[in-house]
Amino acid sequence: MTPGLLLTFDDRNMLHWEKQIPLFEKYDAHVTFFIDHFDELTTEQLEALQKLRNAGHAIGCHGLKHRNAAEYSEEYSIEKYISDEIAPAIESMNKMGFFPTSFAYPYSKRNEKTDNELLKYFRHLRCGSPVKGEIVKTERYFVKIEDVHKKGRLDGASFHPKSKIDELVSQAKKAIDRISKNGELLVLYAHDIRNESEDGPKHFITIDALEEILLYSKINHIKLYSFDELP
Ligand SMILES: [Zn+2]
Repeated sequence: MTPGLLLTFDDRNMLHWEKQIPLFEKYDAHVTFFIDHFDELTTEQLEALQKLRNAGHAIGCHGLKHRNAAEYSEEYSIEKYISDEIAPAIESMNKMGFFPTSFAYPYSKRNEKTDNELLKYFRHLRCGSPVKGEIVKTERYFVKIEDVHKKGRLDGASFHPKSKIDELVSQAKKAIDRISKNGELLVLYAHDIRNESEDGPKHFITIDALEEILLYSKINHIKLYSFDELP
């Protein structure tokens, strides 16, 4: 493997994500989309996911009802969390022809028990946190390439820049310099992808900010991997 960036997008913004298929293709980028409420998707939303998958992206699991894994398993039990939230989510994905290899924690809420249990169902889990200080100095966002196969959970940085000169974009570029030098992988997570002027959920990355990162990665020979492409 070469050093790489794992860009991930959560929830159900597939009608906007779908529009960026040509942009990802332009930079040979594969990314991962984590979907919740799979059983309630419309035909249009399912078709968007099929197009994204056919373009080489991974479709991961984000729970059936977007439940807080730590809270739900502590309030009831880990078994009930799995049977209410995970098994039916995987089942409804399978029914539609999707076979997720990865899972993203809603609200990034987890504990050791949920990690251990979920790793029986998924090869990798994604958690994360908002950036405090600098991405490049936050060790938990980075993993050595040679360690990724034995690391079940990868923690990412919340990444919602609003322009290509956003401070977060400069931070991500420094982090890309680091993975290139150290032979590492970096995980970033976002939600919607759209322009400032468009309506949508609160958490989004603008299209120009996304392109700036894809371009910078390409110039620096950083591969954009989907979770399905990890060992
Ligand atoms: Zn979510």
